[in-house]
Formats: sequence, C-alpha cells, structure tokens
Amino acid sequence: MEPKIIVHGGAWTIPDDRKQAHLDGCRNAVEAAYPLLLQGASALDAVQAAINVLERDETFDAGRGAVLNADGQIELDASIMDGKDLNFGAVAGVRRFMTPVDIARKVLETEFCFLIGDGAERFAREQGLAECDPRDLFVERELQLYEKLRSQDGYSTDQAFAPMPQGTVGAVAIDKDGNIAASTSTGGTPYKMPGRVGDSPICGAGVYADNELGGASCTGFGEGVIRTLMCSKACEYLAQQDAKGAATEAIHMLYRRVSGHAGVILLDKNGNYGIYHNTDHMAHAYVLPDGTIHTTVHMDD
Ligand code: ASP
Repeated sequence: MEPKIIVHGGAWTIPDDRKQAHLDGCRNAVEAAYPLLLQGASALDAVQAAINVLERDETFDAGRGAVLNADGQIELDASIMDGKDLNFGAVAGVRRFMTPVDIARKVLETEFCFLIGDGAERFAREQGLAECDPRDLFVERELQLYEKLRSQDGYSTDQAFAPMPQGTVGAVAIDKDGNIAASTSTGGTPYKMPGRVGDSPICGAGVYADNELGGASCTGFGEGVIRTLMCSKACEYLAQQDAKGAATEAIHMLYRRVSGHAGVILLDKNGNYGIYHNTDHMAHAYVLPDGTIHTTVHMDD
C-alpha cells in the first residue's frame, strides 16, 4: 500500500497576510511526517508527528498560539484514533503541555479513552511528558484578540463561529500496511466559556478512523459537529460514495441539520483524499501520487 497523509490547519476566513504562514505550517507538518511513513512508521506515529509540528507552530490555534477563553486562559483539547483496533485517546482542558496530542497518544495506550484537566496533566507528568509554563503558550496576537473581545459588550462565542472558527489542526494518514489513523488538536473557540470542550477531542465528532471505512479530522463549528457526529458520518458515507463525495456530503449534512460551518479532510481505505469546507478557507496539505506536497487554502486549487 502506498502511504498517504493529509493535514489541515483550520477552517475559517484566513486574512491575506496570514495565508502563507498557514500554507508553510501545513507543508512543514507533511514534510515531517511523510518520510516516517515511507520508512515504515505506523499511521498513528505519522499523524502524531504531523500534529506535533502544528502544535509547536504559533500560527495555529493548537498548542502555542491557541486562543484564550473568557478568563484569559488557554485550555487545550486533542485526540488520536487508530483505525486498526478502534483504540482512541483524548484529553481536554490541558493548560501546561504544549503538545497535548502526546498525552492523548499515551491515553490511547491505556484502558481509558478520555482524560480531562488536572487528571490529564497528572497522567502526563507520570508518563514523563515535558511540562511547560502556561505563559509559553500565549502569543501577542491572541492576547490582543482577547482584549478586543473582552471589551465588546455582550460578546458571545456564537459570533466567533460565524465569521471565524480558528486554526484547529488535524491529520489523517494511511500506512504501508493499510492502517488508518486520525488526530485533531485545538485551543477551541475564541473567548469560549471556561471548561467548554468542543468537537476536536470527541470520538466520532472532530475525529474518527476505522480501517474498514477510512479516517477523518474536522475543524469548524464545534457544537454543531458534536451534535451531528460529523467525522463518523463522513466515514460511514465512504461505504456508499468516493472520498470527495463523502466529505462533501458530511459538510452539507452539517449545514442542513444545524446550519454549521466547518471543513473536513478524509482518507478512504484505498488512500484517496476527500476535502470539503463551507467556510471561505481551510489551509491543508497532502502528498500527491508523485510524492510531492500540495498545499492550498481552497479545496479546488
Ligand atoms: N472545532 C473547534 C472547536 O469547536 C474549533 C475550530 O475548529 O476552529 O473547538
């Protein structure tokens, strides 16, 4: 099986002066992870490596550079799923670790699926993962956005969804053995209620992988994605449709049922990509059949 990988860097309206950083970040993630797949690494290791690059890149709303909640704090959510055995690991409300997908991966290796807040951080420490100062995650851009939103009387995150879900990151890969894995990582939505958890760490909502169908990671209107279990639906659609059709149908379903805006990346079990978004942009990058990397903010480029 020819290995494949696709990553996204969030679905929203990306300002012109930030497009190149999003394209470069997505390319860097594929450049880090694809050689691993060629050397025989598992899809699980490849998506984790790709997400690590994106979490460390302050361009994106994941790890360093994440959005602030209404208390002015960063709470990170991340997930990873192995389509081979349906093992799943997720964390939410993480404040002291720059690459929360690494904690999610450790959770996947336990009997549990999902750890939150202090328990997730204690577990991460026990696993020897490197802790950071919460302030290491903050960037000036997001501090300024926080101050702006705080000064807007009656601001609610509903307003944030319409014009600009942010730069959540995701990856889906298939390895030489035909195993599929998917992963998603985010700081959530700007000025979210403290304790709010979006779709990204929820199995079947912001992420899903099943070797018998395919794998998906999405970004966008989190509450709508949770209510429609969009990534699991996208994978189910693969039983009837090609990857492009399944991705399109998932986003149409989201809009039809809950007026949601989002983007999704998919890989089917034969390594075909599906990409669709109903936001203005979704930065993404993937490996072409000749081994080169294609990056764009529009699905049709
Ligand atoms: N889906 C994420 C959330 O609701 C946000 C995003 O993708 O930008 O937490």
